[in-house]
Amino acid sequence: MEITSFEQFELNRQLLNAVAELGYTVPTPIQQKTIPLSLGNHDVLGIAQTGTGKTAAYLLPILMKVKYAQGKNPRALILAPTRELVMQINQAVSELGKYTDLRHLALYGGLGPKTQIETLRNGVDIIVATPGRFMDLYRSGEIVTKEIRTMVLDEADKMMDMGFMPQIRSILEIIPTKRQNLLFSATFGGRVERLSSEFLEAPIKVEVTPQASTADMVSQVIYEAPNFRTKINMLDYLMRQEDFQRVIIFARTKGTADNIYKFLSRKVIEPEKIRVIHANKGQNTRINAMDAFKEGNIQVLVSTDVAARGIDVAEVSHVINFDLPLIYEDYVHRIGRTGRANRTGEAITFLTKAEEYHVQKIERIIKATIPRQPLPAGVVVAETPFEEEQAMLREIDEQRRKEDPTFLGAFHEKKITNMAPGRERDKAQAKLSGAKKPSPSGPGTRSGSFSRKSGGSVSTKSGGGKRSGSRGGRR
Ligand code: ADP
Ligand code: MG
Repeated sequence: MEITSFEQFELNRQLLNAVAELGYTVPTPIQQKTIPLSLGNHDVLGIAQTGTGKTAAYLLPILMKVKYAQGKNPRALILAPTRELVMQINQAVSELGKYTDLRHLALYGGLGPKTQIETLRNGVDIIVATPGRFMDLYRSGEIVTKEIRTMVLDEADKMMDMGFMPQIRSILEIIPTKRQNLLFSATFGGRVERLSSEFLEAPIKVEVTPQASTADMVSQVIYEAPNFRTKINMLDYLMRQEDFQRVIIFARTKGTADNIYKFLSRKVIEPEKIRVIHANKGQNTRINAMDAFKEGNIQVLVSTDVAARGIDVAEVSHVINFDLPLIYEDYVHRIGRTGRANRTGEAITFLTKAEEYHVQKIERIIKATIPRQPLPAGVVVAETPFEEEQAMLREIDEQRRKEDPTFLGAFHEKKITNMAPGRERDKAQAKLSGAKKPSPSGPGTRSGSFSRKSGGSVSTKSGGGKRSGSRGGRR
């Protein structure tokens, strides 16, 4: 049966009214395919491109089943990787559950647990949480898990990477084994699928398009830029174009994000029109920046990959990858911040020669070649400073060694291989962008960044502000 309206699902009037009020008329393909399965209590692995309504796909069946406020203990648990995303999902629960009396709560770190504990004690039906804060509150005896009947992993592959899997395993140990599991993401490779078979029971996999397909509505382009300075010049040029109305600029490290912010806010964008967020920014700063961006009060958001996953802001006109993400799948997620809910968007990537290696890997994942264009005539191509050139050559050597462990390369002397090229790069950039000092904790931590093959069983320290935020358990 073809589903052309929400009325065809077995949802109650309260939910249908909320859906109509949100302006949803036709269910998206992932909603059409997974809502009936979830209502039928199956374990579901839902894969669909960014911006295609996965949130409502898993929330509507949950809201239908949990139905109304009852008792004190949560009956559904939704886990997501970042605080911003947890808040956004909790907001979606408010909107879709508007005509129900369901009590729901967002649990995330970065602020004291007092209010969260109070709300828990008053009784809650649905919890949306980051794994770290959920476990903390469970351990302090604030959460009774025995009535949880549904668990969702949003951004499921991210939730099962090395940074999170240990915490997910702990959570799986404390919630009832007899439950429904719903896993959703735009990317879900073979490795995570094998991992998920550990705890899914005969899941039904729904793949709207092959995993890691980039959103149809996003056009992509690469500009080759030989160095940091040229990337900055290109940014300067682009940001003066008229149609760059609501832009997210992604950077790999906190240091680079800060440097981009400093440059743009000093010379190109009015300071009140631009914000920067990353794992070292305080929770309130992060919330305020996201809110201002969502409301359209700021033009540019500079971010590390903390904002790569899930964040839904309407009318993001452009995503700029100042550099490529460490986790290749995050390319799909980064550019998926634009072109959402049937709108179009543009994704622009800057590329140095040291990044060619990464772009090839990304193109393999997305099964497409990203078109390239020459730098616009108005962009000044800067000379590459000696230090930066050396850092890039070292990176290229390292990449070759990864492919061929016997390769020695030009920089095989011990003292050099021990250096962290990311840190060198951040230092060089700080000088160029006019920053006084590189951010003390803005390391381009690269150790093991690409060695994800080692599987999810590696236990890593959770949290700690040390990592560039893309793998830490607490973001
Ligand atoms: P995903 O998780 O797949 O990246 P989201 O769940 O964040 O996407 O949804 C993207 C946007 O689409 C949201 O703004 C959401 O409100 C909107 N949306 C969801 N379902 C529909 C629908 N059926 N019709 C129109 N818009 C929808
Ligand atoms: Mg989502």
